[in-house]
Amino acid sequence: MGDYDLLVKGGTLVDPSQGIGEQRDVAVSDGKVAEIRRGLSTSSAKQVVDADGLIVAPGLVDIHTHVYDAVMPLGINPDLCCLSKGTTTAVDAGSSGYLNFPGLKEHIIDRSSTRIYALLNIGSLGLMTYGTDLEPLQTDPRQVDVANTVRAIRENRDSVVGIKWHSTYGPKALLSARAAADKAGTIMMCENSAASWVPVSSVLDYMKRGDILTHAFQGGPAPGILDENGSVKPEVLKAVKRGVVIDVGHGAGSFSFETAEKAIGQGLLPDVISTDLHARSVNGPVFDMPTTLSKFLALGLSVEDVVIRATSGAARAVGLQNGAGTLRVGAAADVVVLRLETGDFVFEDSLGKKRKGERRLITDTVVRGGLRV
Ligand SMILES: [Zn+2]
Repeated sequence: MGDYDLLVKGGTLVDPSQGIGEQRDVAVSDGKVAEIRRGLSTSSAKQVVDADGLIVAPGLVDIHTHVYDAVMPLGINPDLCCLSKGTTTAVDAGSSGYLNFPGLKEHIIDRSSTRIYALLNIGSLGLMTYGTDLEPLQTDPRQVDVANTVRAIRENRDSVVGIKWHSTYGPKALLSARAAADKAGTIMMCENSAASWVPVSSVLDYMKRGDILTHAFQGGPAPGILDENGSVKPEVLKAVKRGVVIDVGHGAGSFSFETAEKAIGQGLLPDVISTDLHARSVNGPVFDMPTTLSKFLALGLSVEDVVIRATSGAARAVGLQNGAGTLRVGAAADVVVLRLETGDFVFEDSLGKKRKGERRLITDTVVRGGLRV
């Protein structure tokens, strides 16, 4: 019997990557998952996390965040806002472009306890002017440089997982994003924007298998994926058929319960559940990953359904093959222990619309690389 550094004892392991949904103990050594078995002895471990009555899942993977803290105006601190809530792997969705990615790498990616990857904005300065009076400058064509963007991706393959097209850069930048993604051989994440000048059908025209449509369940006057009768548009169904990934990207203005209910009712479920966490969504309506997952429990999904979309499903969508989103033996010991509470809860979407739910996920304990956070 080996001596483990840490043992997560007595919880229900929900790890869709291995098809496990039953009681198992998770033993950790040298920052990696050493063993998953029922009945591992607490005396075999230096540290024990009591997960009795709790859910044990792979550390959450949030593929839409903005963690260029103190540089991007809406940036948040990843360790405070993501890791402490159970997100052990966060993808920054276009806060930086090729010109200011080096800062994201040096000051955030390399220094945070959270594992951080980036989708590089097709705009050279990313979202530095987003939400400010300077935002209209993003549509200046000089903001886009395909050759340098491709070079930056090639030089940073370990951190950059694709391209981000943000709608504020306009339709021309979408063509550039397509070109850059093709040249670099990466995926691109595109926004389902509420801006009527880039309707989702036009955006989808440029999206291929593996590309990610974020803000999929946008609401408001231009709900995007639904037609005026509330039916999922045929071009959306076609895109899903050819392998376009449907992502939530909740955010301050991009998630509508009504749109989600109608889409799910017609069989269109998200492939990935992400937050679009930034300074204007972190204090509500998004708060964190467990709250976002709880909203999908309220929409009728099961715990397994939401966990797969926030772990292995999310990791696969951004091409992470380094063991993120799984607790297979040998994978990084990134673990979240969640409490599934029952009661009468009220959840709010980005439009201020409320829904009741009877279940809520709350973070109990987070382990990152074998160390308790
Ligand atoms: Zn965003």
